[in-house]
Amino acid sequence: MSIKSIGLAYCIDNAAVAAAIEKQLSKVVDHFEHFAGNKDQPDRPLAEQLRSYNGPVLLIVSDNYLKTLSCMYRGLQMLQDRRNQLFPIIVDGVKNDDATGQTIGVPTHFDRVSDIIQYINHWQDQYLDMRRQKRHLHDLDENAFNEHLRIMREISSEAGEFLRVLRTIPHQTLEELEASDYEAVFRFANAASDWEPFKRLRLNEKMSAQPAQSLQVTPPIVVTPPVAPAPVEEPVVVVETPPIAIEPVAIEQPIAPEPPVVLEQPVFEEPSAAEEPVAAENPAEEIAEEPSPTHDIEEELAVIFTTDDEDDDADDASEEDHDVPGAATSITATLNDLIQQCWDKAEQGQTQEALLKIADAVNTHPQVSELRFNYAAMLAQKGNDPHTATRQLQILLASNPEFDDAYLLLGQLAEERQDFEQAFSNYKSLADNNDRYPDIYYKLGVLLANHFEDRQEETAYYFKKAFKRNKANVDACYQYALLMSEVFDKPQKAIKYFKEALRLQPLHPFAWYDLALLYHRSGDLKEAADAYQRAAAANPEVKTPENDLAFQYIPPTVVQSTPLVNLNIEEHNVIDSLKQTINRLEALLLAREEEAVQVEPEPELPPAPKPGEGKTVLITGATSGIGKATAERFAAEGYRVIITGRRYERLEAFQKHLQDTYGAAIEKLCFDVRNVEAVNAAIASLGEEWRQIDILINNAGKAKGLSAIHEGQLEHWEEMIDTNIKGLLYLTRAVSPAMVARRSGHIINLCSTAGKEVYPKGNVYCATKYAVDALTHAMRIDLHTHNVRVSQVSPAHVEETEFALVRFDGDEEKSKIYNDFKPLTSSDVADAIYYIVSRPEYVNVLDLVLQGAQQASSVFIDRSGRD
Ligand code: NDP
Repeated sequence: MSIKSIGLAYCIDNAAVAAAIEKQLSKVVDHFEHFAGNKDQPDRPLAEQLRSYNGPVLLIVSDNYLKTLSCMYRGLQMLQDRRNQLFPIIVDGVKNDDATGQTIGVPTHFDRVSDIIQYINHWQDQYLDMRRQKRHLHDLDENAFNEHLRIMREISSEAGEFLRVLRTIPHQTLEELEASDYEAVFRFANAASDWEPFKRLRLNEKMSAQPAQSLQVTPPIVVTPPVAPAPVEEPVVVVETPPIAIEPVAIEQPIAPEPPVVLEQPVFEEPSAAEEPVAAENPAEEIAEEPSPTHDIEEELAVIFTTDDEDDDADDASEEDHDVPGAATSITATLNDLIQQCWDKAEQGQTQEALLKIADAVNTHPQVSELRFNYAAMLAQKGNDPHTATRQLQILLASNPEFDDAYLLLGQLAEERQDFEQAFSNYKSLADNNDRYPDIYYKLGVLLANHFEDRQEETAYYFKKAFKRNKANVDACYQYALLMSEVFDKPQKAIKYFKEALRLQPLHPFAWYDLALLYHRSGDLKEAADAYQRAAAANPEVKTPENDLAFQYIPPTVVQSTPLVNLNIEEHNVIDSLKQTINRLEALLLAREEEAVQVEPEPELPPAPKPGEGKTVLITGATSGIGKATAERFAAEGYRVIITGRRYERLEAFQKHLQDTYGAAIEKLCFDVRNVEAVNAAIASLGEEWRQIDILINNAGKAKGLSAIHEGQLEHWEEMIDTNIKGLLYLTRAVSPAMVARRSGHIINLCSTAGKEVYPKGNVYCATKYAVDALTHAMRIDLHTHNVRVSQVSPAHVEETEFALVRFDGDEEKSKIYNDFKPLTSSDVADAIYYIVSRPEYVNVLDLVLQGAQQASSVFIDRSGRD
């Protein structure tokens, strides 16, 4: 038995692991070819070394590997070219512990988005550091340095994709390989028949070894002085070959898209004109060989589940899935990618193709609930085929009754076809299954309130429960109060809950008025008048002449001569009311003359909410300057703020400052806006509570250099174009679809007066800001019909920023451009942005152009000094 030759590719820091693997496999492998990526030899990238070798390669991937230039350079291309000849083995990395000087292990993970971001950030930091160093390096070989910089940049932009591709190649951790006696390696090297003898050999070795020999890799074997064996009897070690671990395919919800069916959105969309009709020729039916609509659900289940056992192809596929434990995660990733691609396609109007693809995947993996769910959601949302969608969800729930989202979607589909009993039953099943499912009781309450007039008690029960579960659900609270007031005649309870609703939403459009009516009914006219005043302030529609009369209140001391009458508009006609009012007015005048008016103290109001309460704003480039000032302003106004930038330490410190100073909810995202992978990954990594971004402020941007066009540096140009234009586009593309889906949102772009008039040597910076100006217009045209506002601010010179420092590559002298005049400050621009955002929803400020008073244009500046 023997394998002729195997390549071992690794980072030099992990040479010990490579040696240990070689030792294990040397019983069956004739020859090992070593390829080591070495920090000291960046000019010998691993990909280059491997080019001349055609055999199978065990790629030892570690934290060190992922952070070493010679391993990563051209690594993506290598993975793509050689994917069938590579078997990645994931091992812990190693590093020196600063405190103890000892070598310690560093786990290597790249399954989660946050793991990937960590590596993307690592390479971006390396790139930025390198660029910063350039300023302090004299006598440097400019060409060599620039080439190195280019390589760093290439790795930095490919790191995310490298890890994504790596995840899709079947791989195992070293522990998994050890546990399965390297079986996967044998299959990979087309030497499956050699595995049994190898396994026996290992078993014998293990049995005879004292203590059992296992591969110790991290921390690396530390040589210690020999110790005399202790005089105790060694227990007999029984070595059992562990069964091959079968990891369940625990596919998570797709990473990038919002859950396809959003609670508040209608399930169906009108198919756009460009979309091909799917109803007539449903690809899902064709591919999945779905039975006719009249087909019995039980039969259908039987077909699906026997397919799982009997269909050879499916069998092969699932065997493949499970034989290699590490493959489970890569299959999960592949399926998630597939789901994502299908949604992307469907979004782009290629509904047929998307449905075909996902239906095909459902056939191959009938047991993967998420796949079937997405298929059903796509049928419902994009395919205009609620019937098949419903059947798919029923199939899903028959095999996986815990799948909550399926009940919800079934309920929504039932509501769409006006089968409210069925919808109730679906929502109820969901509540029974998972009574913590967000707002499920509210959904039940709304459904009953709208369609089951005779089930008021149940309705009240669900609204009360909904409010108990979610104390921020104002409407549940309000609806419960309304039922207590209007149906169950429980005024005290009703007052309590109306007040609660008003505490949460002081300008609730109806709760004050309902309170006024309740007080009036109970004879408390003063409270009624107060509540009515507030109702009218919150919602001018309730202010009518009749209401004014009915809720008028004159303090008793003033109207002794005309005793108060409990006016009720339903009981008196308007003429009676007028007569009484005239009497009161006379009394009032008299009282004024006698200066007998007593001013009642204002009743205690619930604390005014901060304007931004509950709203989330994401600001790019919040580590300094305008972005930072804007984040501070929004945090102070009660907004939930997502601060972003590349400098992690700054983000961390700023987050703490905002939390401590304003008690604000702050999230931070560290990424480079130029890297679309990083942008998408960062947005996708946001937790559930941060997903709804109400306001996006595209602020990150910069000028680099100030040179005539024939002398400009290409690198500067690229950096400005990538940051100011592409970065803005990437963020907008990642965030705006959810705004469109919710039909609400506001995007504010940071333009500049440089986007209105060009100035000498401002060429490319001005061009990027002209582009921002054009994009703001274009975005508004595309988004205004979706109720998403697009605005911009266009400031001239702004101090309290790092703008000039960045423009002049950190040259402090050159960046002193505001010494002789007073420009705007970063908080002036933050104020302007806040003004735009805080207008009522029907108002859109298109552009705020600002200059300091000493500036008349980009070139006319009164530089006679600052006051
Ligand atoms: P600053 O340099 O003070 O701030 C720029 C911000 O953008 C920083 O937080 C920086 O964070 C971030 N940023 C830069 N590049 C990237 C990147 N590739 N990825 C992610 N974040 C990035 O400048 P200003 O506050 O003055 O600039 C803000 C905006 O205002 C820019 O669009 C600028 O063009 C515009 N403007 C500025 C004027 C001025 O005179 N200052 C005048 C008119 C418009 P980090 O480095 O941590 O990534």
